[in-house]
Amino acid sequence: MNKPSILVLYTGGTIGMMKDPKTGSLVPFDFGNIYEHLPVLRNLDYDIDFYAFKNLIDSSNMTPEFWIELAEKIEECYNDYEGFVVLHGSDTMAYSASALSFMLENLAKPVVFTGSQLPMGMVRSDGRENFITSIEIAASKTNGIPSAPEVCIFFENQLLRGNRATKFNAENFNAFSSGNYPTLADVGIKIKYNREYIAKPSGDKLIVHKKFDPNVGILKLFPGITHDFVKHSLDTPGLKGIIMETFGSGNAPTTEWFIEDLSEAIKKGLIIYNVTQCKSGSVEMGRYETSLNLDKIGVISGYDITTESALAKMMYLLGEGYSHEEVKKYLQTPLRGEMTI
Ligand code: ASP
Repeated sequence: MNKPSILVLYTGGTIGMMKDPKTGSLVPFDFGNIYEHLPVLRNLDYDIDFYAFKNLIDSSNMTPEFWIELAEKIEECYNDYEGFVVLHGSDTMAYSASALSFMLENLAKPVVFTGSQLPMGMVRSDGRENFITSIEIAASKTNGIPSAPEVCIFFENQLLRGNRATKFNAENFNAFSSGNYPTLADVGIKIKYNREYIAKPSGDKLIVHKKFDPNVGILKLFPGITHDFVKHSLDTPGLKGIIMETFGSGNAPTTEWFIEDLSEAIKKGLIIYNVTQCKSGSVEMGRYETSLNLDKIGVISGYDITTESALAKMMYLLGEGYSHEEVKKYLQTPLRGEMTI
């Protein structure tokens, strides 16, 4: 029987770093020599290929252009591999995993993002375990079909749906949470897949969407927010959509100028998408008086979507060139399991 074949795509980030023995500083790892650095990989009976992007980046420098490069590489190699592992800095991993989930329509193979808090070349690194387990997950099949055919994030001991995950800890090995969706798999001495929560592929051909419109923004509300700040944010030239991070179940100040400014902006065509600042729970417009007005003026609900996923989804829908009404409709419709309505 053929060995499972896995493609590892290296974008940069801490996981791919090691200490230069001469200078003592962190430098990117040479994945060409991976079997030398990680001989244990030979014990996995897989064919593992590596592809390193030319411009390895700290993920703080991630861009929609890089998402497109990544998706194009997956598209090019889609039929040659059983699964894909993306090595990526953890800082913006949730944005990238969300973006890829929207780009890869009808995905039927695992695309597992992973990274680490300590560089792979350090003695106590979490990178080796994350890397090896991600390869196992990408290769895993249940009754002949991939066990996790989704864009997901594996970190420490949890496999999460990528567009439901958030980086919530800058130090712990367990760096990601998914406040509104259960784990896709829990990893201990066994990898236990939670099948009822894992997406079932549609069976249709993979479609790769490659356009993003970056004319979006995030407006996080806070007590004391000034009129000037709100006005200037809404007046940003070219802005088409804004994710408004509200309090609790989607609440915002009832101050007259605030509601008027939002209402004016909506009338001029701006899409305002209500997403909660809470890491768990859903927007429920109209539950409190403080969200009733938002509903009335045409702010739309993001339900329980994460900010990262909301941003990627808005850039994707606007990039695809849908009409204003269609963008609003799809923002309120689960497209890749990113929200529960
Ligand atoms: N700053 C790094 C990055 O996101 C952190 C990491 O790799 O986890 O690229």
